[in-house]
Amino acid sequence: MSDLRVRFAPSPTGYLHVGGARTALFNWLYAHHFGGTFILRIEDTDTERSTQQSVDAILQGMEWLGLDCDEGPFFQTDNFPLYKQHVQKLLEEGKAYRCWCKPEELEAKREAAMAEGRKPKYDGTCRHRQDQPLDQPHVIRFKAPEEGETAFDDLIKGRIAFPNAELDDLIISRTDGTPTYNFCVVIDDALMRISHVIRGDDHVNNTPRQIQLYEALGYPVPIFAHVPMILGSDKARLSKRHGATSVIAYRDMGYLPEALNNYLVRLGWSNGDDEIFSREEMVQKFDIANVGRSPSVFNPDKLNWLNAHYIKTGDPARLAELLKPHLASRGVTDTTAPDLAGVISTLQERAQTLEEMAERALFYYQVPQSYDEAALAKFEKPHLAAVFTAVAAKLSAAAITTAAECDALFKEICTEGGWKMPQVGQPVRIALSGSTQAPGIGEIVMALGVPEAVARIQRAKAALAG
Ligand code: GLU
Repeated sequence: MSDLRVRFAPSPTGYLHVGGARTALFNWLYAHHFGGTFILRIEDTDTERSTQQSVDAILQGMEWLGLDCDEGPFFQTDNFPLYKQHVQKLLEEGKAYRCWCKPEELEAKREAAMAEGRKPKYDGTCRHRQDQPLDQPHVIRFKAPEEGETAFDDLIKGRIAFPNAELDDLIISRTDGTPTYNFCVVIDDALMRISHVIRGDDHVNNTPRQIQLYEALGYPVPIFAHVPMILGSDKARLSKRHGATSVIAYRDMGYLPEALNNYLVRLGWSNGDDEIFSREEMVQKFDIANVGRSPSVFNPDKLNWLNAHYIKTGDPARLAELLKPHLASRGVTDTTAPDLAGVISTLQERAQTLEEMAERALFYYQVPQSYDEAALAKFEKPHLAAVFTAVAAKLSAAAITTAAECDALFKEICTEGGWKMPQVGQPVRIALSGSTQAPGIGEIVMALGVPEAVARIQRAKAALAG
């Protein structure tokens, strides 16, 4: 194991969204690429907005994507004593101070600053306060450096500097004694020995404050990499109005985890013109150095394309496991006859999602209750009767074991009956599946099994050919 340690630190205030999943994936890949450690930390200090349901949803999303952590999940609410010790330490060292300014006073000063065109900032009234009425409500502020600048070399964005004069004396502990967000993050990242902080660029403005805290506490400052955000097609930040943003919603819509991972890795990261990456290739090739500086646009068509690719090339037995819930929601729970993997191999070529595939797999498990009338109208009843009789007889008599043999048998039937292929193929397809939108006949017969195919043809004959 190398010393490289990264973390994904979601706040459990909602489901795992695609932006968060991408951050998790980038961290996971970075750790795996360098033989480092990937840590999961649940940032639940905002007890009002954090819920167990969200924690579960985040864990579920990560599990589905296969983003397993090496350490964790840790919960910030377990660390309150630790944060308090650090607040105490800063107070004792004169690097933090108590502040009794009332919210309404601060608000008035803020408004005055705005009115005068000054950037609002805490004016340091309590920095030098002599009396310390500890029994009165107060917060604790960090005594931030007033001069110079705080800068860092972001692995993605390059050097970013903030004049210290613009940074407030951050509140690190609230009136009720609970520590604030930026403070907790620093203590945790320091104590977890995080070497690289890879996160969304909405946190860039927190970074100088956090760096000042690391320095005041005497902890090494990690390396930062701020990943540009994901936009919708209209270039606005990706949100619900662009479509689903929850990882689990993508699972439920029939996307494969490998397709979503592959899609997410390309949102911001590139490796030449390559588009398709197995997990091993991602691990091998991923580097923060190849993450771009500009935001990426979420493109559902590309995700569909990748999903179709992984469905087409997937192992039918594995796809079967993933498809089962989609069939179950359609009332199909017994997928042993016909065998689901066999069914899937007839549908892989054409499905973009597992939802689509489940829809097309239904006829295998549900005898057609109706037949495509418009397609059947092209054939006379006596023709249908003759075709169904010939096919049922031939299929029952022949011992076919492959789709190719079955197709050959249908050629024979055509020759013997003096028919062209569509004159036989279309009615038989309809008999087997109810519609003409089905895989090749040989494939259907093999997946369905000859006895069931024959039974369906006889059923159709009774229903359609009088
Ligand atoms: N909890 C923060 C969030 O969900 C992430 C903080 C961080 O990565 O430093 O946005």
